[in-house]
Amino acid sequence: MSKTDGLPAHLAKHLSLFSNDQKKWLAKAAAFADAISLEETKRSDTENTFRRDLFEAACKDGLGALPFPSTYGGSGGDYLSFVLVNEEFARRCVPVMSSLGVHVLCQEPVYKHGNEEQKQRYLPNSANGKYLAAFGLTEPNAGSDTAAIATTAKLSGDEYILNGTKTFITSGASADYFIVMSRLLNEDGSKEGSPGITAFIVEKDFKGFEIGQKFDMLGMRGYSTCEIVFSDCRVPKANILGAPGDGRKVALGSLAKGRVTIAAQATGWAQGALDAALKVVSASGAAERGQLDYLIGGLVLLVESARALTYQAARSVDSGESDVTLAAMAKIQATDAAMKVATEAISLAQERGLESDLLLERIFRDAKAGQIYEGTNQIQRMLIARSLLK
Ligand SMILES: Cc1cc2nc3c(=O)[nH]c(=O)nc-3n(C[C@H](O)[C@H](O)[C@H](O)COP(=O)(O)OP(=O)(O)OC[C@H]3O[C@@H](n4cnc5c(N)ncnc54)[C@H](O)[C@@H]3O)c2cc1C
Repeated sequence: MSKTDGLPAHLAKHLSLFSNDQKKWLAKAAAFADAISLEETKRSDTENTFRRDLFEAACKDGLGALPFPSTYGGSGGDYLSFVLVNEEFARRCVPVMSSLGVHVLCQEPVYKHGNEEQKQRYLPNSANGKYLAAFGLTEPNAGSDTAAIATTAKLSGDEYILNGTKTFITSGASADYFIVMSRLLNEDGSKEGSPGITAFIVEKDFKGFEIGQKFDMLGMRGYSTCEIVFSDCRVPKANILGAPGDGRKVALGSLAKGRVTIAAQATGWAQGALDAALKVVSASGAAERGQLDYLIGGLVLLVESARALTYQAARSVDSGESDVTLAAMAKIQATDAAMKVATEAISLAQERGLESDLLLERIFRDAKAGQIYEGTNQIQRMLIARSLLK
């Protein structure tokens, strides 16, 4: 890979906009990706296996809690730095990318809504890689419609008793703790006048917690994605996160930042697909190339538009005035760009496009998932419209 001072060459025209700290994190991500062989990258996808060792190595490099202050073990970087890491990891299909994104997504509510005891218990060990975190929102009958959450919690003495199933949980079969959104009932089990959706921190060793079916998916493989099941799961009273009834606020606040992370990943996929297309086209004859310039120019435009919106959304997070609508726009633009660039690049590369060495078919499969998770692009479009129409 050609680079400028350890930095990816395709970002050369952006470097003057990055701080030294942002460049440092980008160089770290590039070096981390350099150390992983293509064979390893392909294996985590074909064998659908999670690389805990890579997760721990990433945490040792300071990537496990990059955008959190050092008070709880974080690296004190800004969100744009974390975006640059995600973009580089996705471009190279680094096997730990998605779990790292979700891990940071889960620390956000603990950092923002947790009490001091919870912060001390979960954040330093998340930063150093002892704990891996996962996010439990989606249920078999509650995806886009979070109001339909059917997992219940009921206070009984010093414990909450949780019952229900969460599905499509990234890192689910490998995580040590979970941020779980559950419907808090009254103590007699009734719903009427109950606080409603409430967040809990559930550890994998709590009684009544089980891993359900594991998924063998089209894309985003190698991330231990599975169902998690609560059967009279006993959660200490101290593990409620935020106030009773604050669950949607806790979840949506984290997802607003998480969507910027997804936008970064998708920008990386789009760039990775473009890299592959350029490789194939560069190797073709001059006459053939002339006809392809128009198409390639359009793909570059898609990648750079996704990148511009993603960096803008990250800067909005860093300003402290996180703009949810901007995050939604970046997520849509970047994941749609990734899907489009990967599709066109496969067409351009013809039969080579399906060879696993180019990572193009892998990016094509992963990009499809990007359009769906952390809020489908259809729902994000509706949120954007509603923000203007309200
Ligand atoms: C790879 C992967 C990883 C994931 N990881 C996690 C995770 O870690 N934690 C977690 O909690 N969840 C996770 N998810 C779940 C993901 O967030 C949901 O799949 C997503 O929110 C959509 O929910 P759903 O699948 O139930 O689809 P549905 O909500 O049933 O939607 C189906 C289709 O209908 C459309 N639709 C739905 N409602 C409307 C409407 N009102 N108007 C117009 N169109 C509508 C949607 O856009 C979609 O196209 C993951 C999913 C994938 C694919």
